[in-house]
Amino acid sequence: MNKITNHMPTAELQALDAAHHMHPFTAGAELAKKGARVITQGKGVWLTDSEGNRIVDGMAGLWCVNVGYGRHELGEVAKRQMDELCYYNTFFQTTHVPAIALATKIAELAPGDLNHVFYAGSGSEANDTNIRLVRRYWDVKGQPERHIIISRKNGYHGSTMGGGSLGGMTPMHQQGGLPIPGIVHINQPYWWGEGGDMTEDEFGLARAKELEDKILELGPEKVAAFIGEPIQGAGGVIVPPATYWPEIQRICQKYGILLIADEVITGFGRTGNWFGSQTFGIRPHIMTIAKGLSSGYAPIGGSIVCDEIAETVGGAGDFNHGYTYSGHPVASAVALENLRIIEEEGIIDHVRNVAHPYLAERWKALEDHPMVGEAKLVGLMGSIALTPDKARRAKFASEAGTVGLRTRERCFANNLVMRHVGDRMIIAPPLVIKPEEIDVLIERARKSLDESYAGLK
Ligand code: PLP
Repeated sequence: MNKITNHMPTAELQALDAAHHMHPFTAGAELAKKGARVITQGKGVWLTDSEGNRIVDGMAGLWCVNVGYGRHELGEVAKRQMDELCYYNTFFQTTHVPAIALATKIAELAPGDLNHVFYAGSGSEANDTNIRLVRRYWDVKGQPERHIIISRKNGYHGSTMGGGSLGGMTPMHQQGGLPIPGIVHINQPYWWGEGGDMTEDEFGLARAKELEDKILELGPEKVAAFIGEPIQGAGGVIVPPATYWPEIQRICQKYGILLIADEVITGFGRTGNWFGSQTFGIRPHIMTIAKGLSSGYAPIGGSIVCDEIAETVGGAGDFNHGYTYSGHPVASAVALENLRIIEEEGIIDHVRNVAHPYLAERWKALEDHPMVGEAKLVGLMGSIALTPDKARRAKFASEAGTVGLRTRERCFANNLVMRHVGDRMIIAPPLVIKPEEIDVLIERARKSLDESYAGLK
């Protein structure tokens, strides 16, 4: 068989792909009919496909390519590290310089006393670690009955048995026996979709109060932790009302419940600070990290853990948990170089400057489109709600979800990657996006909205 390369005709690549490659969150039969778009190159915020189209990546891959595509330094570092020490593990009292250096840097960047890193290969694995870690913590504290974790409907925490259970995605729970026992879900703080007649602030408090109600229903002595994304990403970039997080924080504190902030998307600059917790004034005991940690150049994730948990668990004998690739030297070296780029190039300042007012004004202006309800943006993370009637914040009834899908397909055809979650459209471009590239993104988004609107029945 011939070598498979970028130079093969697209149809041949698609046929081999459909024949042998099972894709995540994709219907294999559909793929065989339509063929996947084959991405061949990336530079900055731009992707090229096998047909030579130049695409604006409004999603930074899967919310991860924070420093943009094509940074040679990251490849150089990976090569040097592979030559020097391609792999060693961090089990059984061994370590290596990349894992030490990265953990030290993350501890420096993370707020408060989040000074310890447990490495994983992905965000899902890190959240699995968190389940084991908080349960182990309470065991050691002599409260083994504290094992329930409260999470949110329409939250996303990964796709492993643990991560998928923490998440509150109905389509995921419908397959494979999720959620696992000991994880319960409360409602999300989604005002535009579920706020009814309440003001945003009232609704934020009401949805936070559901945490207190659930704690009291279960018994505070049974609840180990609450987990949430500062902004729900995969759920549709749902920015909580300003009242929500302070109240969640107060309730966790009142009942002595650990607070886990899942920063897999919001970490490493996305919201205009190193962490989304800083943007929302959250003081978590554990943060989940992945994605922007290496800008997707190498698979790596982890949990940043506060002193009290790390010292309690670490002081009680072996924590019987870990992954072959925990602290992988090549991934760690790449992540450290990525953090150097973010820091030294002032990329987080760039996010603040380019997001507000430049992108914010243009994003908000999409609300003048007849099909667009709210347009939300925090840093470089945005969403728009598609609606048949903005005054009533109405949802599409007969065409639910299909308007978003059609809009995404129009975006695809117009060489813009913008994702849909039901009838919400979302963006999270590379953090290095320039004003002139924002103009292209907005122009293509508007054109796609117009075309999709024209198809409404
Ligand atoms: N947590 C959040 C908030 C995420 O958005 C994701 C992925 O999108 C995950 C966890 C899972 O990360 P991974 O896909 O690296 O396992």
